[in-house]
Amino acid sequence: MVGENLDLSSDSQEVPGSMSAGGASVRRRYVGIHFACCDIYSRIYINRAGTAYLGHCPRCSRRVELKIGPGGTDSRFFTVW
Ligand SMILES: [Zn+2]
Repeated sequence: MVGENLDLSSDSQEVPGSMSAGGASVRRRYVGIHFACCDIYSRIYINRAGTAYLGHCPRCSRRVELKIGPGGTDSRFFTVW
């Protein structure tokens, strides 16, 4: 039994890596977050400067900031405590 691959896209048509050709609006990047405080899965979106992912817990509004390093991150999913 394999238990990983938590579904981040159940309500989304976004495809990671897809490019919108010539569009003025750039689709914002996001990562999946497990908010351990409330045991909830949600997403947080990249900030305008592209330096961090910012968001908050949908239940308790705990703030989350994930700074993006110089090399970026390949991870698409994080847990916050
Ligand atoms: Zn919470």
